[in-house]
Amino acid sequence: MSDATPNQIELVAIDGPVGVGKSSVATGLAARLGWQHLDTGAMYRAVALLALQSRTDPTDEAACMGLARGMQFEFKTAEGGQRAIVNGEDASEAIRSHEVTEAVSSIADLVAVREELGRRQRAMGLASRSVAEGRDMGTVVFPEARWKIFLEAAPLERARRRGAQFEAEGSAMDNEALLASIAERDRRDRSRSVGALRVADDAIMLDTTGLTLDRVVGIMESIIRAGV
Ligand code: C5P
Repeated sequence: MSDATPNQIELVAIDGPVGVGKSSVATGLAARLGWQHLDTGAMYRAVALLALQSRTDPTDEAACMGLARGMQFEFKTAEGGQRAIVNGEDASEAIRSHEVTEAVSSIADLVAVREELGRRQRAMGLASRSVAEGRDMGTVVFPEARWKIFLEAAPLERARRRGAQFEAEGSAMDNEALLASIAERDRRDRSRSVGALRVADDAIMLDTTGLTLDRVVGIMESIIRAGV
């Protein structure tokens, strides 16, 4: 690897839309590099879970900000994948429930929550070499990341991948409902006033349509190991 320029940080920022495979790619890449996987979506999901548990309105900015600020959140390395520990409890499955997925876009629209979580994500990403994954990694949270990769894939392929993920988790959703839910989450992700999903000017665009997970991770690993 060649050296980073002085204002860059040794971090891979991966952004992209729902169902593009960010989490699987980030998990695989972090494992190959031996770096931390910073799954920032899990943090928004954790606040959504706390809001549901405490019956807090997910559009109430002050109340949700209070939940975000008071939340203890950490990733724990475990066999079979990283766990999300929220206020001392393993919430890895709970944050993936349909209810949380429904509520999380509203939480992610709240600017005060974004600022609080963004601050924490930055601190975590600066503390150890990371593969950070989300919607605003290369644009807002880590603008000086040395590698910025924006993943894309055709909508039908994204729906198929998402469907396979649901099936693996033991739930099912028909294709049309999946496409509609992806389109709605995309619309919200792209239209938010702060932290909207967009391609950073200096990001590498990688269209993963038709590529296996292994191939995508391999391409990204070569980019990083080449130091470009
Ligand atoms: O990636 P994942 O689906 O787990 O993210 C959950 C939600 O959190 C997304 O729908 C997105 O709206 C939001 N999010 C965000 N910014 C991030 C990561 C996730 O707004 N950096």
